[in-house]
Amino acid sequence: MDIEAPEEAKELPKIQRLDESVVNRIAAGEVIQRPVSAVKELVENSLDASSTSISVVVKDGGLKLIQVSDDGHGIRHEDLPILCERHTTSKLSKYEDLQSIKSMGFRGEALASMTYVGHVTVTTITKGQLHGYRVSYRDGMMEHEPKACAAVKGTQIMVENLFYNMIARRKTLQNSADDYTKIVDVLSRFAIHHIDVSFSCRKPFLSLLCYQHGAARADVHSVATSSRLDAIRSVYGLSVARNLIKIEASDNDPSRSVFEMDGFISNSNYVVKKTTMVLFINDRLVECTALKRALEIVYSATLPKASKPFIYMSIILPPEHVDVNVHPTKREVSLLNQEVIIEKIQSLVESMLRNSNDSRTFQEQTVESSPSVPSITNNESHLNPSPSGSKSQKVPVHKMVRTDSSDPAGRLHAYLYKKPQNHLEMNSSLTAVRSSVRQRRNLKETADLTSVQELIDVIDSKCHSGLLDIVRQCTYVGMADDVFALLQHNTHLYLANVVNLSKELMYQQVLRRFAHFNAIQLSESAPLQELIMLALKEEELDLEGNENDDLKMKIAEMNTQLLKQKAEMLEEYFCIFIDSDGNLSRLPILLDQYTPDMDRVPEFLLCLGNDVDWEDEKNCFQSLAAALGNFYAMHPPLLPNPSGEGLEFYRKRKHGKNPQDAGKSSCDIGDDIEIEDEFEHELLSEAETVWGQRDWSIQHVLFPSMRLFLKPPTSMAVNGTFVRVASLEKLYKIFERC
Ligand code: ADP
Ligand code: MG
Repeated sequence: MDIEAPEEAKELPKIQRLDESVVNRIAAGEVIQRPVSAVKELVENSLDASSTSISVVVKDGGLKLIQVSDDGHGIRHEDLPILCERHTTSKLSKYEDLQSIKSMGFRGEALASMTYVGHVTVTTITKGQLHGYRVSYRDGMMEHEPKACAAVKGTQIMVENLFYNMIARRKTLQNSADDYTKIVDVLSRFAIHHIDVSFSCRKPFLSLLCYQHGAARADVHSVATSSRLDAIRSVYGLSVARNLIKIEASDNDPSRSVFEMDGFISNSNYVVKKTTMVLFINDRLVECTALKRALEIVYSATLPKASKPFIYMSIILPPEHVDVNVHPTKREVSLLNQEVIIEKIQSLVESMLRNSNDSRTFQEQTVESSPSVPSITNNESHLNPSPSGSKSQKVPVHKMVRTDSSDPAGRLHAYLYKKPQNHLEMNSSLTAVRSSVRQRRNLKETADLTSVQELIDVIDSKCHSGLLDIVRQCTYVGMADDVFALLQHNTHLYLANVVNLSKELMYQQVLRRFAHFNAIQLSESAPLQELIMLALKEEELDLEGNENDDLKMKIAEMNTQLLKQKAEMLEEYFCIFIDSDGNLSRLPILLDQYTPDMDRVPEFLLCLGNDVDWEDEKNCFQSLAAALGNFYAMHPPLLPNPSGEGLEFYRKRKHGKNPQDAGKSSCDIGDDIEIEDEFEHELLSEAETVWGQRDWSIQHVLFPSMRLFLKPPTSMAVNGTFVRVASLEKLYKIFERC
């Protein structure tokens, strides 16, 4: 060791202090990531300066020129020398001010950053001055003394040649789509929130020659107004504005959450493919993926057309509940009690959508008999003649069903109209609606969902409140091995079995979404009989030779026949499509963005034939849901995990040498291959992909969905699904002692 040390020391990289200009440029690249980030910062400055009119001109997607002019309070002459130095601001003087900050800026970094990656010129005039000043900046410093000039009220900031000194960034931006649409988008968002400010955004006159009549048409043009809806109409158009519902919520319980929210959300008539979510938290334009996703789930579950929503929402919280300093571009903020707030908003949106949906259906169906009474209560009593039926309506829809995008409105209702008694004759339009639904859906007469509701009730009654709390509040740390995930809840660490958890979640999802699944279309329909044969071969029955194969064939044939007989029910309730030739072509979506491991289809089909109780309705639904749960669960992929000991599996074995080397009977790859390389690269990369996808799904689908939907049964507290491994307090104590 000692002898090797000097040699090693020579090779070790030397640590040196970076030149300040390099540091500044690196930091600038982070604050100003692309032209649209510069525009956002400049507009925020204008808003902070109490402007009532802000106009933006953008040339070449912002790379050539960004110019923001406002009529705000201007910048004092004596502040101009340090205006563009890093960390100079008029908005904050001590750290504690951050707790109550109302302005959008506070770091004093935006203008400075722009001068490190572009050429900045400021023209400004303050109240009562006869003339203004103009000065240009580079690398944080004034290039010359401010020059007196004529100026109109406010400030104009011009940024030219953005990223002129960051060749790679400039190239990527030039190659990608122009930032202009992003800039228009940001300004549109500001415009509908700050309705007392008028905004405009356009390209400079010269590049507008292609426009009709050569006129300088602005792409955003909003005038100050007193009505938010008017602002939305003028910016996003009538088609958006006429399909909005006003929404308001608040909570004022410090032990739970304190907030006020108001906004507009699209109704069921609004059908688009992409979500628009305009979110302001304490007047800051921010993004909140968790909230957006929670609302998207509600929309896709509640609205028959599974449309994506338009949402404008402004949330106000006590400033000390918001940490604004968590993102370099201030794009995200962190909130106290975020989960509670999201859940509250989610439930509200859901009930509003459900109401708007229900009353719409009602009006459509009873228009002749009682046009003036669009009563929801009335409507529900039609739908649920039995007491247990009415219970099913209480389960929040976002936790229960998802409608198929191709289905007509009110499909769930159609199921429940089993025996509408005298209502059936009430009017012809109702009958027409129903029969068209029947035709399309080939609806069976026996749609009694009581048994499903009973199974859901069991889930609810067996829910373990302690585990529920862990599931809802925990932070996912990572996978500890192939099966256990490490979770943190308060100061405790837990190991949680993701296979058990996902199996249970999928099972519950099948029952909650019962008969309302979106479909996964298989790229090629799969012959049941062959798949079942495959599964049987893997099971290795205790029989020999041809006799064995014959028996397997018989079992496969019988199971196929059975499933073909049940095809209608499987399709109707579980979205499992089996055609008359015995091919499987569709499977249900249990969780958005998740497809099960298709390697498990044969095993699943065999299980449908063997393990499902087809006699008793409730048992049948339960065993089917369990079979689906097991199929969709996030089992470790069949290929061994290449990031652990499993890597050995992919090592090539020498031609002709002991084929049992790898110790696994299924491992016969590479036996006939001459060695060129050490590993089976193709297989290895396939394994890396499937394991990577599984990790992604666990983190981004399983845990977020569990938070929303899973009711962990009490059994999970004792069957090893959750194991408490350590308390952080104790661990810290141990670390302290070290
Ligand atoms: P921050 O907004 O975080 O304070 P900036 O670098 O964005 O940092 O701006 C620095 C300072 O320049 C601001 O604090 C503000 O006093 C002043 N300023 C910037 N833009 C304007 C403007 N359009 N009108 C008036 N003052 C401005
Ligand atoms: Mg600023």
